[in-house]
Order: sequence, then structure tokens, then C-alpha cells
Amino acid sequence: MKLTFIGAAHEVTGSCHLLETNGKHILIDCGMEQGPDLYENQELPIAPGDIDFILLTHAHIDHSGLIPLMVKNGFKGQIVTTFATADLCDIMLRDSAHIQEFEAEWRNRKARRSGESLYEPLYTMQDAQDAVELLAPCDYEQRIELCKGVEVRFTDIGHLLGSACIEIWITEEGLLRKIVFSGDVGNINQPIIKDPKQIKEADYVVIESTYGDRLHGDERPDYFGEFTRILRETFQKGGNVVIPSFAVGRTQELLYFIREIKEKNLLSDFPNFDVYVDSPLAIEATSVFTKNERGCFDKEAMELVDQGINPLVFPGLKLSVTSDDSKLINFDSRPKVIISASGMCEAGRIRHHLKHNLWRKECTILFVGYQAVGTLGRKLIEGAPVVKLFGETIEVAARIESLKGISGHADMNELLDWLGGFESDIKHVFVVHGEDQVTDSFAETVTERFDIPAFAPYSGGCVDLVTNQILSKGNPIVKKKVEKPEKLRAESAFNRTVNAGKYLLEVIMKNEGLANKDLAKLEAQIKNLADKWNR
Ligand SMILES: [Zn+2]
Repeated sequence: MKLTFIGAAHEVTGSCHLLETNGKHILIDCGMEQGPDLYENQELPIAPGDIDFILLTHAHIDHSGLIPLMVKNGFKGQIVTTFATADLCDIMLRDSAHIQEFEAEWRNRKARRSGESLYEPLYTMQDAQDAVELLAPCDYEQRIELCKGVEVRFTDIGHLLGSACIEIWITEEGLLRKIVFSGDVGNINQPIIKDPKQIKEADYVVIESTYGDRLHGDERPDYFGEFTRILRETFQKGGNVVIPSFAVGRTQELLYFIREIKEKNLLSDFPNFDVYVDSPLAIEATSVFTKNERGCFDKEAMELVDQGINPLVFPGLKLSVTSDDSKLINFDSRPKVIISASGMCEAGRIRHHLKHNLWRKECTILFVGYQAVGTLGRKLIEGAPVVKLFGETIEVAARIESLKGISGHADMNELLDWLGGFESDIKHVFVVHGEDQVTDSFAETVTERFDIPAFAPYSGGCVDLVTNQILSKGNPIVKKKVEKPEKLRAESAFNRTVNAGKYLLEVIMKNEGLANKDLAKLEAQIKNLADKWNR
């Protein structure tokens, strides 16, 4: 009966823990590392083919993103999670595979030209689809026998649609131990989904600490009022409100608020304004929300559902699925809201909307989420006067606004409140999923507050759950910094392509007056080329 910490140990992403009992190997989460990464993760001590189950707390890629890699490398067991998480994984793992394949294809185009060896994607669409086949969803609050000696229950933790903390009862040689994995603990102020539910008993708790040293503040931001004000002021000037937003979670919150603004007629001068959601992933995610409303939505959202109202749908909502739909948005000159991904403006359709709206002083670019250092979103928030998009220099004349977002994570006090709700004596708390120093400081806070031993393991850290003995604290092996010029090269390659396009247009203009026969030939060649790449 042993627990080994693999990922999100002294780090915020890449959640992965290995539980060994009764001859079975069970992974709790199998996430991808995202963003800056400080420590090397230890390899899993066993082959993916020898893992019997993956238990998944929620669909965010930093908890689920390496599952297709496990499948590619031989995992054939069940992936047990809630119904809503399974639905979200279906779209998010496929989206992740698409990104992996796209990046590999881009690298390989260059590798082929230079004779370098080809780059294999981390995993493919087929691997993601195979992973989806292994999803074995269950209901919240249902205690199920996973295998002999292991029972599990998923309880709503209010972080994302379908998110759960996982309770595991382990019986081995007549001894019972209960371990609870918090997953990411939600913030009680989030709309649509329920608040985190309290668990009462555990011998061991593995808890996240993303905000383990921070408070959201007593004063709740007037999100709703601020949002309405920004819409009104922008529409009065005849501009658009462009919102870079994460496709899953934040976009649905925005729709929820906009429906209410429309319902209460808070923008009485602009009752019929249109709202475009221009992100296929966001559109799919919205339908997953609607499909899972029963069991996942909070009281306020369910009151609407019970009246026959979809809380994420309203008159004027327009969904853009194809890239042609996307392009048409900017032909409509009426003031409107455009919600598009990616949330930090690094990729995706949002970049087209920024190109069309950033230079217009009557428009507003509204940020609703965290913008990491070095991203285009961060540059705009920090007041960049010009930015480069598609090789063009674009003046930033639009107003740049930020809404103090509703965090998806519990703050320090909420985490402590949740821990304080346990009624049984906890033998040990393990602190994971936080920044390097934060995990240690939160562990100290837990011990001070509750007089419970608490410890933040490094990757490879290991504990015997029978004896409550820490077998290893893990190894803090600092990752060597790898320069990543690929992205820069991607940008310049893209700029060169845009310039080639402009050159083509110049050539066309020069040939005005050419014989119709020759023009038809040129037209056919251009159409042929365009059709080939329009995918
Ligand atoms: Zn999460």
C-alpha cells in the first residue's frame, strides 16, 4: 500500500500520482506539464501497460493531457471519472492531439527540407480516440468497487464542470486506509457550477495549493457591473468588444453573464446586440455544459433550467464553426461581442479579430483571464503601442480592459476551510500542485493550523500508507533550461508566408489588362493553390 508522487510535485502542472495496492497500479491524474517547468519529473516506475486504472479528477490538460500518451505506450485499463469530465475529455484530448500533430507537421516540413530526422508527435488523434474509448464514467457520490480491496467515490469539488475530489478506500491484508485526492479545489464564487463539497473522513489527504499563499480578497469584484459598463461604453462609441477567452469554463461563464444582462435589459439602448462565439472547441464545450446540467449546475443555474431556460443561450448568440463563418464576423459593422480563443492571444482565431479591431479606437479588447509573461495578451495589458500580427504592424488604438476574473481555484482560506471540514483524524497531508515555495509554505500553514503532519513531496517522493512512513522525499532535480527557438522560427516562417501572399497580390495587380485566356489560367492556378491549403 504505497503512494508515489510523480508530477505537479513542487510545481503547478503535470498532476500525476501512483497508488500501489493489492497488486494493482492506479494512477490518479495523468497531466501534461504546461508553461515554465522547474523540476524533472521521475519516470513512472512501471510500464503503462502494467497500469490497471487511471482515476481522473477533471478534464484540464494539466491533469488529463498525457493519457493518450499512456494509451499509445500500452495502457489498456479503464479511465474512471465523472460523466461530465468524460464528455469534456472527449473534446479536449482530441484538441490536444490536433495541436501535437500540427506542431509535428510544422517541424517536419522543415526537417524534410534540411534532411534532419523526422519529429514524431507526442501522440496522435488516433491515440486520443483510443483513450476516449477507455473512459468509464460514473456518477458523483456513487461508491464503486474498482477492484478487489479498492473502492472509490467522486465528489463535486466545484472547480470545472465535472471536477471531483476522489475518495479511495483501500483494504489490504485486513487493514483499511482511506486516502482523499482533492484535485483542483474550486472557488465558492464561481457561477454555473456547484461549490466544493466537504469530505468528512480520511487517513491521508493529497491537496492542491495553487493559491496556497494567496487570498482572493474580501471585496468581491463587481464582475457583472463592470462587464455591463464596458459593453455599454464600447457600444455607445459604435465599437466591438473582443474577448480572448479560454474555451472551456471561462467562455461559458461569459455566456451566463451576457444572458443575464440581456434578460434584465441592462443595456436598454442595445437590446439586440449580437454575441459571436468563434471557437469550435468553445462551442463543443458549451454543449457539454448543457448536456450535463443535471447533477453539475448550481441552484441558481438549475432554477433557470427548471423554467425551461438554457442559461448559456440567448437571442443574438451566434456560433462560428467554420473558418468562413469566422471571416464573415468582421463584415458585420454593428457593435457586437466577439469571444474567441486562445485566451492569451498566442494562437487561434482571436488573432484575426485582434487584427480587425485593435487599430479601431472605438473598440475594446477585454481580458478575462490570467496572461502569462511573454504572451501577446500580456503585451497588450502592459500597454504595447503597436503589435505584430500576421507580419503586419498593427497600432493599438482600441481600449484595453481587464475584468478581475473569478478564479477557478480556492484561495488559501478556502483550502484551509475545506481541510478543516474533515472530522476524522488525518494521519498526514501531502501538498502538491503549487509553486515551488508555496507547496512548502502551505504545508507549514496546515501543520500550524491543524497540528497535522504535512509535507510537500518532490517528484519520486513516496509514502507507505500502512505505516505512515515517508520512504522518500523525492528528488529536486532542476531542469536544464532549453532554449526554444521553434516558436520564433514559426513566427518568422509565417511572416514570410504572409509576405509571399502580398507579393502574389502585387503580381495580380500588375497584370491587369492581360489577355482573358492568361488571366483565366492565373486564376485557376491561384484557386488550385488556395483550395489545397484551405483546410
Ligand atoms: Zn484544473
